[in-house]
Amino acid sequence: MSVSSQLQSINQELANTPAKLIAVSKTKPNELIIEAYESGQRAFGENKVQELVDKQAALPKDIEWHMIGHLQRNKVKYIAPFVHLIHGVDTLKLLKEINKEGRKNDRMIPCLLQIHIAEEDTKFGFDANEVKELLESEVLNELEHVSIAGLMGMATNTDNEDQVRSEFAGLTVLLKELIASYSHPRLNLKEISMGMSGDYKIAVEEGSTMVRIGSTIFGARNYANH
Ligand SMILES: *Cc1c(COP(=O)(O)O)cnc(C)c1O
Repeated sequence: MSVSSQLQSINQELANTPAKLIAVSKTKPNELIIEAYESGQRAFGENKVQELVDKQAALPKDIEWHMIGHLQRNKVKYIAPFVHLIHGVDTLKLLKEINKEGRKNDRMIPCLLQIHIAEEDTKFGFDANEVKELLESEVLNELEHVSIAGLMGMATNTDNEDQVRSEFAGLTVLLKELIASYSHPRLNLKEISMGMSGDYKIAVEEGSTMVRIGSTIFGARNYANH
């Protein structure tokens, strides 16, 4: 199947839902991104800063670049001038660094807070209480160059669909609760980034507004750790 026919069929599935497609192009060559671009795709996701910077420099300037992977603080400066949305903000320290770089670039950088929803013991993400603490904190007043646009989560990598569904549903419940409880100029809570190739249909049923799909569009990647 070609990139364009894969995009077409995913877009058909998403047509009557709130979910927007982020095409995850990590490890894939620019030629394949151009192919997707020419069939109308504008939002692309990468998880490595260097790769993101190189691709942004080489590819059309109206592409929206999404940083979807774990982001190290010392690398924020490289993407701050152009990044459209940072999906995986998992610490207050990182949020402060993004704010600093947003100020230097005289822009507001939209961010999603990554929530730890999977049963797996991953290192990254806030839990529900930590996120509430953050949203209640005075520190938000200082962060004039970030906009917290919603939440991001990754479900457990399992064949158990009920488990995946309940993890996604939990993220939607949390977002609704946060929307109802907190209001602040830094908060513009509306996005839920959840769903990848293996689980995006469930994610969309459970309220996703952004699906991050790579291998279904571009084919399997060669690296075990991506
Ligand atoms: C790689 C990646 C994806 C896409 O994964 P696929 O299974 O190829 O669709 C989505 N989200 C994140 C955070 C990723 O790192």
